[in-house]
Amino acid sequence: MNLKALPGTRDILPSEMGLWRRIEEKGREMFQRWGYREIRTPIFEDTRLFRRGLGETTDIVEKEMYTLEMGKGPSLTLRPEATAPVVRAYLQHNLHKTRPFQKFFYMGPLFRHERPQAHRWRQHSQLGVEAIGSKEAWLDAETIRLAQQFFADLEITGINLRINSLGDEQCRPAMRDQLRKELGGRLDELCKKCRERYDRNVFRILDCKEEGCRSIVDGLTDLTTLLCDDCRRHFDALRGALTAMQIPFEHDARIVRGLDYYCRTVWEIDDPELGGSQNALGGGGRYDPLIVQLGGPDVGGVGFALGADRAIDAILARGGAEDSSEPVLDLFVVVVEASVRDEAYLLVDRLRLQGIRTDVDYEGKSVKAQMRQAHRIGVRWVAVIGPGEISRGVIRLKDMESGREEEIGEQGIPGRLAASTGAKPA
Ligand SMILES: [Zn+2]
Ligand SMILES: [Zn+2]
Repeated sequence: MNLKALPGTRDILPSEMGLWRRIEEKGREMFQRWGYREIRTPIFEDTRLFRRGLGETTDIVEKEMYTLEMGKGPSLTLRPEATAPVVRAYLQHNLHKTRPFQKFFYMGPLFRHERPQAHRWRQHSQLGVEAIGSKEAWLDAETIRLAQQFFADLEITGINLRINSLGDEQCRPAMRDQLRKELGGRLDELCKKCRERYDRNVFRILDCKEEGCRSIVDGLTDLTTLLCDDCRRHFDALRGALTAMQIPFEHDARIVRGLDYYCRTVWEIDDPELGGSQNALGGGGRYDPLIVQLGGPDVGGVGFALGADRAIDAILARGGAEDSSEPVLDLFVVVVEASVRDEAYLLVDRLRLQGIRTDVDYEGKSVKAQMRQAHRIGVRWVAVIGPGEISRGVIRLKDMESGREEEIGEQGIPGRLAASTGAKPA
């Protein structure tokens, strides 16, 4: 057999789970501290949700979606992003009518058919928040603080926060016209992709990674000078809030995020330690138009998505270590001979039901090999059970730290383990 995980996908083995859990637990704890509640939406959705929500000419919709035609019924798409599904759920369950302002968080896999390369996966895992029901700039700032502090708590330091404002339907046309005017005479200097973008999605030229395009973009008018009064006030309020919270940031006109649903605030956090072009740890922004586009009220919404895979790469790039692959146990039961195996398995069962993390050999190993296994696991306590112990109604309990042994009744084990200061926390 020569079957392997597909390019752009990967297995996360038990030895790697420690970091994943650290990231997910940190996210869950922080999102709740900031007032967000968890939501889970399906992995696949009606394809029209993404076509309508993200925009027909976006890279994701044009070429990166995993779309399944299943005969009868609507076309399905594995979710390439999570904001449109969360907004869909918010509208479908009439949450906007009962309590219009709602804050959600989510974590889980997303799917994009991109060329696999370092730090880029076709299935990748994101943690994100969506705050729906307000256009207040302080809310944008709150989400940015949350993302920035998430990385700080994970000791991912030296990262860059770059923000921008894309304006809204009032001022965006003037920004688009200005961009077309300045780029129109220089089309032959742009890369092939950007020449297409000029007609279809001119803002995407701003974040082109090609060297030639970058130098042209550097010389363009700062489009935020064209923001209407409302958008300017919003952008000023956001920058004021970030400054007041002492969050370092820079204004970068290249940040456009590539989806039609964004308005006003857009931002990204990148990590120079990751190197190369795939160094964004996450990003977000305001998506008031998306809610309207999906048939909802014009209440406003803002959020972000952070890449869990990239966060792990960022921790490893800073010398962070994977955790041990062995399960964390309180007690390992050593079976002296086959005749007492049934009693040993029943003992293990009873201890587990009492909340003690217990395991036992299932391979018929010798006592010596079982002790070696207990040692390798790093378990503090070993319970030895043989015919002698059974006839006396006791268990021989060995403290692997001190080497001391004692005979103890089964009902005394939970108390004995709890009293030992070295017991690993659950
Ligand atoms: Zn280009
Ligand atoms: Zn505006």
